[in-house]
Amino acid sequence: MALYGIYGRHEIRDCPLNNAESRKFVVEVGKRDMSSILPKYKINKIIGQYHSALEHTYIWILDAEDPHLIQQFVIEGGMASFNEVKIVPLITFDDVVRVAGKIDQN
Ligand SMILES: [Zn+2]
Repeated sequence: MALYGIYGRHEIRDCPLNNAESRKFVVEVGKRDMSSILPKYKINKIIGQYHSALEHTYIWILDAEDPHLIQQFVIEGGMASFNEVKIVPLITFDDVVRVAGKIDQN
């Protein structure tokens, strides 16, 4: 399992709350059967999808194999058409605790 965060941000004028084209896109994405799309990009699971409506930001957390394929997922899926996107490797807090606990043992 490898965790990645897709961090997205868009302009207020491009927000699905304000822009008819973005709104149509988001509603269509919400109807997609993601389970049939994810294997193409070696995404094992979408763990979470969280959005801040008024900051116009979001984070999707994925269990995936290849960040370059996540990039392809973001481009081909249309997410990058109105969002700035960062793809960031993530670890859990438990991982941080485990690694931190080993530092002083060496
Ligand atoms: Zn927005």
